[in-house]
Amino acid sequence: MSESYVIKMPQLSDTMTEGVVVSWEKNIGDKIERGNVVATVETDKAIMDVEVFREGYLSGPLSAIDSTVAVGDAMGYLVVSHDEVQDEGAQPIEEAVPAGSEGKPEVEVAADIDVPKNVTHVIKMPQLSDTMTEGVLVSWEKDIGDKIKRGDVVATVETDKAIMDVEVFRDGYLSGPVAPVDSVVLVGGALAYLVDSSDAVVEGEAAATVTKSKQEADFSLPSGSTPALTAASAPASNVAPLSRPDNKQASPQARKLAASLHVNLNTLKGTGPDGVITAVDVRHAQPVERPTEIGQAVPAHTMPEIQVPGHGRAMSAMEKAVSHSMTASLTMPTFRVSVDVNSGALIKAAKSKGVSLTVAIARACALAMQKHIRMNWAYQPVDKLVERDNVDIGMAVAAKDGGLVVPVLRHCESRSLEELNDNWSDLVERARSRRLTPEEYANPTFVISNMGMLGVTYFDAIPVPGTAGILAISSAGAQGMPMTVTADHRVVNGAEVAMYLNTLKTNIEAPETWLGSPEPAIPQGDWDYDVVVIGGGPGGEDCARDLAGHGIKVAMINDSPFPGGECLWRGCIPSKAWRAAADRIRDREHDKHLGVQGTNKPELDWKALEKTRRSVLETRGDMALKTDTGVKIKVIQGFASFVSDHQLVVDKTGNSKDPHARAPHGDGSKGDRITFGCAVIAAGAPPFVPPIDSAAEGLENGGVLTSDTVWTLKEAPAKLAIIGGGAIGVEMAQIFQDFGTRVTLLEAADRILAEVEPEIAKQLTGILNEDKRLTIMTSVGVTSIKGKPGVVKVAYKDDDKKKTMTVDYVLMATGKRPELAPLHIDNAGIETDGPVIKADKHCRTNVAHIFAVGDVIGGLMLAHTAGQQGRVAAATILGENMKYDQSKDSGVIFSRPQAAFVGLSVEQAKAKGIDAVEVKMPMSIDAKAMITNETQGMIKIVVDKSNQRIIGVHFLADHADTLIGEAVMMVSGDMTLEQVAHAIHPHPTQTEMFGDMARRLLSRLRRSRKVTSKAKTA
Ligand SMILES: Cc1cc2nc3c(=O)[nH]c(=O)nc-3n(C[C@H](O)[C@H](O)[C@H](O)COP(=O)(O)OP(=O)(O)OC[C@H]3O[C@@H](n4cnc5c(N)ncnc54)[C@H](O)[C@@H]3O)c2cc1C
Repeated sequence: MSESYVIKMPQLSDTMTEGVVVSWEKNIGDKIERGNVVATVETDKAIMDVEVFREGYLSGPLSAIDSTVAVGDAMGYLVVSHDEVQDEGAQPIEEAVPAGSEGKPEVEVAADIDVPKNVTHVIKMPQLSDTMTEGVLVSWEKDIGDKIKRGDVVATVETDKAIMDVEVFRDGYLSGPVAPVDSVVLVGGALAYLVDSSDAVVEGEAAATVTKSKQEADFSLPSGSTPALTAASAPASNVAPLSRPDNKQASPQARKLAASLHVNLNTLKGTGPDGVITAVDVRHAQPVERPTEIGQAVPAHTMPEIQVPGHGRAMSAMEKAVSHSMTASLTMPTFRVSVDVNSGALIKAAKSKGVSLTVAIARACALAMQKHIRMNWAYQPVDKLVERDNVDIGMAVAAKDGGLVVPVLRHCESRSLEELNDNWSDLVERARSRRLTPEEYANPTFVISNMGMLGVTYFDAIPVPGTAGILAISSAGAQGMPMTVTADHRVVNGAEVAMYLNTLKTNIEAPETWLGSPEPAIPQGDWDYDVVVIGGGPGGEDCARDLAGHGIKVAMINDSPFPGGECLWRGCIPSKAWRAAADRIRDREHDKHLGVQGTNKPELDWKALEKTRRSVLETRGDMALKTDTGVKIKVIQGFASFVSDHQLVVDKTGNSKDPHARAPHGDGSKGDRITFGCAVIAAGAPPFVPPIDSAAEGLENGGVLTSDTVWTLKEAPAKLAIIGGGAIGVEMAQIFQDFGTRVTLLEAADRILAEVEPEIAKQLTGILNEDKRLTIMTSVGVTSIKGKPGVVKVAYKDDDKKKTMTVDYVLMATGKRPELAPLHIDNAGIETDGPVIKADKHCRTNVAHIFAVGDVIGGLMLAHTAGQQGRVAAATILGENMKYDQSKDSGVIFSRPQAAFVGLSVEQAKAKGIDAVEVKMPMSIDAKAMITNETQGMIKIVVDKSNQRIIGVHFLADHADTLIGEAVMMVSGDMTLEQVAHAIHPHPTQTEMFGDMARRLLSRLRRSRKVTSKAKTA
């Protein structure tokens, strides 16, 4: 027998001792060429390709998929002739010798690359798509000499289709000579090097541009020395998992793998239990529809090249890719068929669903393809047809720097319009800056080119190889919108295309047949009320008002005599009345800074403050009730609980005339039954007191207060302990500090204000602790609270040491939790998610006609959040498309300085897979802040680097409650850094800081692309 080779489990990282066989990319008996990928294996950190650098035939026994094989052990064999091929059940080939390169460790420097001394790793131009042979170095994200950690992005490169990050999976120091920005480097060619110590770093750039014709240049590899592992398939080991896909489940492993492989989970169908997306699904998605058999690369056609006068410049990688693809398409025998379509109904339907017309047309095309399946097939050389079920539609988008990018919207046949629309918005954003991953632009099964918006009356387009046709959409004229399919006659004939276009025309002209018409969610029936809303706080009231405004018969059941809920009576408004008084006292300290004398001895008249507070609440409550009844909401006082999913009972026995205190529960003796079509639960969440020893007695005797009962105080206490460092605890701590109380705040976690950006929370803690009357203690566990008003003893553990303190009162600010038992939600079949009611982003519970909003569904327990969710529920009931997006929500903690946020922090953005960057400015450099001596704190702007949109703004600043208004518009309006930088802010105002920060970050981002030139001159 001739010599056989053993394919061994390669050692792909320093720490790898074994690997799992993920897939065999070749079958037993297949002819293997040098450099073929025969299998993929999962290491302790990544999924990687196994390439073989021998020729032969794949022979058994092969290690089973999912089996674990020790490094160096046999996975399979190569034999020289087809006759020697062994099947699965055969004995291992004892005499086989190692096949070679597949065992190369990732970290090994290829011996045949001429590398500088001391180099531990060559950073090579990765192959990021099947068609990529070279790439352009766009920017260096790290400087020469920088410490590089596993998973760091060191550079960005331009492939034939997009701009992509180059990640490094090793630690070290970046060392030269580095490839210059704008140079062209062959796949596998060196971009830069890693060395082990900063002393070994080499400065400088390598020689200039390398082109395909210059194979022997500095950055090219000698032929045959392609790295054993293709970087494109090597996921990072330490990436954070992607966030959960919308409306579906994905295993943690799948999310991690997807983050590494840049796979969009939203486009995948899960094959796990209940449709869960598994790691296998992710692996199959990357790259999308990888051709299984690729023939020898031979020129498909030899066209006569006609010389043109002048001096041509070399095409960019992208221009070349388009040129080659278009020239190849000349081999397709094409013909054209047109039809005029009236798109008015689809435009209207898309608008009412809140989706783009382009996406709606793509879905209509995919549905038409289910009837005319050949439109989704493709010709494959030679004389084969590729039949496919998945309709993946490519649609051209203009990139910011000119040129077209064609992102592919996958699975248009099976995904909901809403899901496709979310996916498309994301793709378009990144396509504009050419930041797509290969699986996001590779291998469409059909293409749409829409030039209608450019006003052209008629055009046709050139189909790309691998599709049966392309649809060209022109702008609507008197006859309608001309739609032309240019099709490949080898796959479809004229009649088929004509029938396809007719079905498409029907789909577009009668969208209600597949989109459904937007109908209110209220089921048909003889109900007492179309909708009942339970709770009259911000969530319930905003919902009821929107519904009443649309003529819906709505009842709002609230257990208090006046609407307003916790926010008006025991939350936002009374606490801000106290804060306003505390502000006056605090601000007097700044008077002398401006030369104002005689105001430094402010005194608090508690009775006067309380009179003002109560009168503001009562006036607002009265105004709210008049408005509610005026807009024809039926306001019913009583406590509602579910009898069934269409009936409530309203218990009025607990009704009281006092709106200030939380209403007591009734005895259930009197109850009116009410039937409803839809219900909205907006019952809020009362304060939650954890089971601390003797705290319950304190609640009884009044020594322990909550945010419900703190308003009963007759004066500011001398000593107060606050348990809990959330927004309520921190606000109250500083209010009482300003009132003259000695306050100690005890927080169990290692930081206060969990919802606030970490640096801002940390700085605020320092500022709060500067005042002698206020102490913030974190990582403290309270063990008991004993005593009565005037003498309450708090025992706690600090650093495992038992300590006590005696105070006049304890205020429990330990969070809020809905009280669901009295609502009897189980009678309506409503599900919970832990302690809160489960609701989706349309605020719909698991029962389709029952909704839940505000504190009762958890998340950010804030009044404006509840209000927004109330409006979302109303819109959904009315059949409109509206959803709550927490990533654009905001909040203010009314401390001094105020902590405030809108959108995401860098940390939160990164957890969602966004490449985020921040810019910050201290308040101390602002003129207005200097004048008023309010120089503590900072403002931060967080930006998505891929599109330079502002995704978060964070404040620690006096007046943040006003400044945040502009930031809210930036985030909710998806504004870009450039737009904020160009806005004309008035002087002198603190809003100027927004413009300054935007300009500064723009400049930094520009400069960071030029770090190589800096390194060169250093
Ligand atoms: C001290 C403090 C300060 C705060 N400051 C702020 C702030 O500055 N900014 C901010 O945004 N948020 C603030 N909040 C939070 C804010 O008050 C709540 O997030 C908001 O009130 C929640 O609105 P909601 O509609 O969900 O519930 P709620 O306002 O609690 O309203 C629910 C209403 O429904 C009633 N109800 C409950 N069950 C039933 C039933 N079965 N039948 C009939 N009626 C029922 C309740 O009694 C209540 O009146 C603060 C809270 C506190 C305690």
